[in-house]
Amino acid sequence: MSKIQNLELLVVGGGPAGLSAALAAANYGIKVSLTEEREFLGGQLIKQTHRFFGSEKEYAGTRGIDILKKLIDEVNKNNNIEVLLSSRVLGIYEDNIVTILNDHKMKKYYPQSIIFATGASEKFLAFENNDLPGIFGAGAVQTLMNVYGVLPATNVLMIGSGNIGLIVCYQLLQAGVKVAAIVEAAPKIGGYSVHASKLRRLGVPILTSHTIKKAIGKEKVEGAVICELDSNWNEVKGTEQLIKCDAICLSVGLTPLVDLLKQRKVKTTYVSELGGYVPLRDENMETSIKNLFVAGDVSGIEEATAAMIEGQIAGLSVAKRIGKNSKDEIEERIEEAKNELELLRSGPVGKKIRKGLSKLGLNHGKNYNEKFSEEALDISHLMKTGVPSEENLKNKLPSEEKVFDKGPIAISECFQRFPCDPCVKSCPFNAISENGNINNIPYVDFEKCTGCGICVSKCPGLAMFVIHKNFSETTSVVIMPYEFLPRPHKGEIVKVFDREGKYLCDGKVIRILDGKFQDKTAAVSIEIPKEYYLQARNFKVEEGNHG
Ligand code: SF4
Ligand code: SF4
Repeated sequence: MSKIQNLELLVVGGGPAGLSAALAAANYGIKVSLTEEREFLGGQLIKQTHRFFGSEKEYAGTRGIDILKKLIDEVNKNNNIEVLLSSRVLGIYEDNIVTILNDHKMKKYYPQSIIFATGASEKFLAFENNDLPGIFGAGAVQTLMNVYGVLPATNVLMIGSGNIGLIVCYQLLQAGVKVAAIVEAAPKIGGYSVHASKLRRLGVPILTSHTIKKAIGKEKVEGAVICELDSNWNEVKGTEQLIKCDAICLSVGLTPLVDLLKQRKVKTTYVSELGGYVPLRDENMETSIKNLFVAGDVSGIEEATAAMIEGQIAGLSVAKRIGKNSKDEIEERIEEAKNELELLRSGPVGKKIRKGLSKLGLNHGKNYNEKFSEEALDISHLMKTGVPSEENLKNKLPSEEKVFDKGPIAISECFQRFPCDPCVKSCPFNAISENGNINNIPYVDFEKCTGCGICVSKCPGLAMFVIHKNFSETTSVVIMPYEFLPRPHKGEIVKVFDREGKYLCDGKVIRILDGKFQDKTAAVSIEIPKEYYLQARNFKVEEGNHG
């Protein structure tokens, strides 16, 4: 056992919260040791190939893997941060001594402050045969595919429709894996509607009020039996159906990893809205033990953007306490971060988090504006099926049909209140507005819109389309976002689908914008028979059509 090393700040966990915490403190002169048990930094960000929602200030519109590159770059450039990889924190004791296993040696540290950003673990589900090979957690599927480039199966049944389940389904499809269906026990989809809609457009069924009864197979998964649930969550007899698949992916929630906190006797309490046992902590992320802070999923399950802001608050709070720099400036930055977090949580999707936080006695010092807690539209059909209702669509289309005569115009198929603004920020003509609140639904001002198509590539929810109704006497053009391989060629004939993934017609590719600016979300202009301009929302490149 080595002698004890003094530290100013130890950050445990190199995911988005830990990296942000380390940077926030180090930027104010604090010497930080950032410890990560794996041999690389990044936590879940390393698997996130999709673009993030949220505010542009907090990297919205940027892919998780690119956010990670920026954070790691900043960490590497910062002389105040020492990174300890392959370093597992094994113990934290009453005198705040921390033991870390590194390079087969147990080392002892005495940090002045600690920020725990240890993240979360996946929940499992009880059903018959759930130990068959071929049953994965969503995190494992993402690790296999996005970190190691290995396909988990050829046809996957997803259990759970939260954002992680929906995102993993989309990534499976991008990797060429079929998704048999998404099964969701709740009566509504758990994740953002835009994620669900893009899967429906790709033909993936989403079965809400359904559950898995058992996995089928001898040596490995060959299928699953699912059934319907009634409003009391009881099985509806006679509704069993066999789904053929060679893997079952479970995405049924996360639970905070609080083991080390419990070892240090940090007070915890069970809050179902936050994922399980969470530490009691104040609005500066400090726990019941002085100088011991938390950030990210360990403090309650939320999105990565919230984790990064919590990391900043914790890091800045440590910097303020140690006080090497202007406390006023740090305090100002803490307030800014708190306001940003409050804004992110202020819409309907933040309601659950707000309820959970209130059980910890937290509301960040201000009352949430509850008028933003209600959906502006009735999206019950959308949240049950992933497909917007006629009413929802009517609300987003021009009130007068003749507006379509003016030329190409953008249509936003984003109907839910959640914190996101890249569409607004991307439009050079200020044609998209959320009326001053990031949680509002975006609306297009058709007078201002030039149909340039910039927003089509910039929307992380793939919810922006441009429609040129009168492209010719008989045809319209729809510009659609496209994130699959192979890319179509100009002049190619493709199959065009509606919002439920049903075949509509053949279309001709007339333009592809797929440069650096589009950042892998191509904007593809497809010419179609005029009668389909309000339905055509997806296309597939025909196999064999492609050279
Ligand atoms: S198509 Fe262009 S002008 Fe119209 S809303 Fe999108 S970015 Fe703005
Ligand atoms: S339309 Fe706007 S608010 Fe909706 S997902 Fe796209 S960028 Fe976000």
